Amino acid sequence: MKALLADYNIEELNKLFGDQPKFRAKQIFKWLHNGADFADMTDIPQNFREYLAQNYDASSLKIIKTLSSQKDNTQKFLYQLNDGNVIEGVVMEYKHGFTICVSTQVGCRMGCAFCASGIGGLVRNLSAGEILGQVIEINRYLGGTITDRKITNIVLMGSGEPLDNYQNVTKFLNLVSCHQGINISQRNISLSTCGICDNIIRLADDGFKITLTISLHSAIDKIRKTLMPIANKYTVSDIVNAAKYYFEKTGRRIIYEYAMISDKNMDNKSLEELVKITKGYSCHINLIMLNYVKEKGLKPCAYGQAKDFANKLKKHNVSVTIRRSMGSDIEGACGQLRNTVLKELR
Ligand code: SAH
Repeated sequence: MKALLADYNIEELNKLFGDQPKFRAKQIFKWLHNGADFADMTDIPQNFREYLAQNYDASSLKIIKTLSSQKDNTQKFLYQLNDGNVIEGVVMEYKHGFTICVSTQVGCRMGCAFCASGIGGLVRNLSAGEILGQVIEINRYLGGTITDRKITNIVLMGSGEPLDNYQNVTKFLNLVSCHQGINISQRNISLSTCGICDNIIRLADDGFKITLTISLHSAIDKIRKTLMPIANKYTVSDIVNAAKYYFEKTGRRIIYEYAMISDKNMDNKSLEELVKITKGYSCHINLIMLNYVKEKGLKPCAYGQAKDFANKLKKHNVSVTIRRSMGSDIEGACGQLRNTVLKELR
């Protein structure tokens, strides 16, 4: 496979094309972030464009299928990477613009009991340019450019565990928020993690200012361990310490994701422990109705129970919302990604 130019930042492009005029790297960087192919790069000399095309890939993936939800403004995309692997992504339309949900790995090795993304295990990490490629392709698909962007927000909540691919994910964050390129501010980016605490701390220490979302699902270690294998490595108390550290360093409110699962995490004790961990720093709880994944067997609780749980949290002065689940009719909701594709390929 050829090297992917979208993996490079301007400084690296400069080094790579040291014999070219100084402005060349910036020109190429801009074109790449606009989703252009080498042939479109009209301000680059023809012979250099040919050299680039022979030695590098401009695009990291192509859209091979699109599905639109009938219920809401959600679209799901199937992308094929240059090595033939397939990943999925979702785009949601809100008043202020489009939010893209990107994948960070092909598959996932975290093995959460409710999530479809990990069913086939981890195939490989995505490179920075492959994560960026999802944003570039969809921005272009929606008719946007780098100066007139359609994508306003990014959530790293597709398949994969972003903090299990730290190097590439942080490089992606730097590339996507670079002023010379597609320039999406870190304020408009959220990263969701199952709670790899060492890397939460590293993210704060490395100076990133993105919103951190932690998939908690239970504030009781014993229950959390039955849902998420990562809970054997990091306890709830480790998570809260890392969350507090992240909040103190970045000033960004922590978001906890809590999927409401019938007969698992909705009892009074669960509520009590959840209330306890929210005190002393700024955090918010997103309650999500569990999306049913056939292979997994777990069931969502009744909606009335969810509302009741949310109201009780509010009485304890916990900031909480029940999150709308979008795209469930096209298996584009949380935990449903990639599952269908794998079945189709089998
Ligand atoms: N690996 C990261 C990001 C991917 S999952 C993480 O664990 O956070 C994005 C969100 O969807 C997470 O909060 C995850 O716990 C949640 N999720 C996964 N499967 C789900 C399901 N079946 N129903 C509801 N939420 C689910």
